[in-house]
Amino acid sequence: MIVKYILYFIALPLLFCSTFPANAVDNFASTERAVIDSSADDKNALFSHIRMLIMDLGSRYLPDRNDVVKKIDTLTGSTVVDGVTYSGEIEIYSGEQQLYTILRIPLEDYVKSVVMAELDRGWEYEALKVQAVLARTYAVNHIIKNRDAIYHITSSTLHQVYKNAKVSDMIASAVEETTGEILTYKGSPIEAYYHSTCGGKTEHAEEVFNGPYPYLRSVKNDCTLSPMYYWERKFSYNELAKALNLPKITDINLFSRTVTGRMDIISFKSGKIETFARAKDLRRILGWKRLPSTMFKIKKKESGSEKYLMLTGRGYGHGVGLCQWGTLHMAGSGKKYKEILAYYYPGTLITKHEDL
Ligand SMILES: [Zn+2]
Repeated sequence: MIVKYILYFIALPLLFCSTFPANAVDNFASTERAVIDSSADDKNALFSHIRMLIMDLGSRYLPDRNDVVKKIDTLTGSTVVDGVTYSGEIEIYSGEQQLYTILRIPLEDYVKSVVMAELDRGWEYEALKVQAVLARTYAVNHIIKNRDAIYHITSSTLHQVYKNAKVSDMIASAVEETTGEILTYKGSPIEAYYHSTCGGKTEHAEEVFNGPYPYLRSVKNDCTLSPMYYWERKFSYNELAKALNLPKITDINLFSRTVTGRMDIISFKSGKIETFARAKDLRRILGWKRLPSTMFKIKKKESGSEKYLMLTGRGYGHGVGLCQWGTLHMAGSGKKYKEILAYYYPGTLITKHEDL
């Protein structure tokens, strides 16, 4: 940690040599909590920009509201972290654990970059507009929740991934056509969950996340275009025992399904001891790609002395909210972005964020 701290101190003045002020040390003297006062901001000012904490691959610690931080300075320039170039207004804070670099950029530029990172395969125009509204809704939710924190969101997979790749003209245009639009339910921005491929039917939110949401109910859709519509995986009992921290596994059985028919709880026997694991947790433990979804069937097999499971499944992701490949199909069939959003998030409205 100390090495990193020193590196930042050496590297930052070099990166910003043209703008780094001589009086930076004086500014360092002010001590404050990791909060800022945004109470005077009107809606337009509040939603004009987003503050993003830049995280590198080694970042472990996120500043808490109660942490003591010192603002070193605000600079205009670029910095490169893990191969990604971040350009704009950059605020540097020193915390008890490390330095924090926070990029402040226009919200609409952020939305363009997120859509670019999510859909880079020449998707249907209406599908790009759908993704723009979702990315903006997600960002606005975080701006509201963290309006007095030093950052709203991070650059990592904890939130929406920000890669700052050059945005295509088509994506720029799709985002601009939806400028300021977010999805709301009873006047508040929704939890805009989405995923790659549902496998034919999305999941009720309460099966995966905390609490039910009236606008996140299971809906059917056609996502057979997805390369992850159908998949097979083989897991040896040894691999599963290791992942679950069990000495060995002697038998595996389905214990319960979710209301929509996905795998919910699976029982693992180790002699006389029975351990239960939720399928959604197995995905996290085994890896999101190793176990792409909870929509699968299991078959117990044996080859010589090796016992293993053959899984045949459909879909990729948690299955809640909008299915991106189903959206592509709907857009290709002539559906407009508002119809698609109304289908996946029933009861919601498209609202301009300044009208919240
Ligand atoms: Zn789907």
